[in-house]
Amino acid sequence: MVGGAVLCIFCLKEAPPSEEHVFPDAIGGALTIDRVCKTCNELLNERADRGVIQHPLVRMVRAQLKIPDRRGNTLDPFADIFGKGTIVGDEPRQEVIARRDPLTNTVTLKLIRHRTEKRRPDGTKDVEIKIDSRDADQIPLIIQRERKRAGLTELSGSALDLAVSRILARGLTEVRHPVVCHQPSFRFTDPNRGMLKIAYELAWYWLGDDYLDDEGAQQLRQVILSDGPLDDPKLPKIPGSVSVGEVLPALVLWNHIPNVHFAMMNCLQKHVGVAVRVFHMLSAVVGVSEEPARYSHLIERGYMGSFVKLEPVSRTVSESTLAAAIGDLCSDRRR
Ligand SMILES: [Zn+2]
Repeated sequence: MVGGAVLCIFCLKEAPPSEEHVFPDAIGGALTIDRVCKTCNELLNERADRGVIQHPLVRMVRAQLKIPDRRGNTLDPFADIFGKGTIVGDEPRQEVIARRDPLTNTVTLKLIRHRTEKRRPDGTKDVEIKIDSRDADQIPLIIQRERKRAGLTELSGSALDLAVSRILARGLTEVRHPVVCHQPSFRFTDPNRGMLKIAYELAWYWLGDDYLDDEGAQQLRQVILSDGPLDDPKLPKIPGSVSVGEVLPALVLWNHIPNVHFAMMNCLQKHVGVAVRVFHMLSAVVGVSEEPARYSHLIERGYMGSFVKLEPVSRTVSESTLAAAIGDLCSDRRR
């Protein structure tokens, strides 16, 4: 280490450290490591973490548990599903946005501003702008902006007042009991790279720097840092699988504890495996090493497996051995 620099566990270069959340911060992952450089950290946010935190199933739980993002905002699942819609029977269809007031639990609709241009035979243009009546105070601003856009001079105070009053004199179009058509669209992000990133960081966290030279580690780094589809034949095949919605068998023992993240590692005879669960929505079992002999010093010291549990709301991290975690499970169930 030179001048506060650390060896980054991804690019293997010496660089100043940054705070890396093993489980993304946006899902309440409070376990952090300081062995990732800033450049790799940003790359991981973009290529790996995003696929996990933006996955619709994960967003649902983030919203339900009210886990704030970096800006302190929580997600509103209502907006995801019923955000934009169109009013049925009104031609051309008017787009509206639905908002739920979390205090009164009522839904209000707001017309989305719509602008159309019609060219007249003499070459001049008519511009029609539909706005929500609650935005009436913005009419002067809209007039001036449209005049500027058309290369006309701004209206003076009295001329502007006159133009506004002419518009208001036309009255409002009211849509009573609007029928709104929503077409929910979910963008299913690919959480694979993000789950592999968690498994890799934990493997290093539990196995130490010896792991960095492991062939399994090299392959994981190559896959995690790559861009594009994971089934690219140029990328190594990582043993294991990622499951969305259904928890993989290695983790079902904890099915009765929802909304929590878990991970565990075990050294077996032929490989080292890490299993990860994000909420009760995503799970992965990853073969992180096929060289368990490298870690025989752990076994000699009576290694009982590693286990970590992250509680996303209280942002607490509890670490224990896998053996102790299974023991806790038995006492949980007796109660
Ligand atoms: Zn790096």
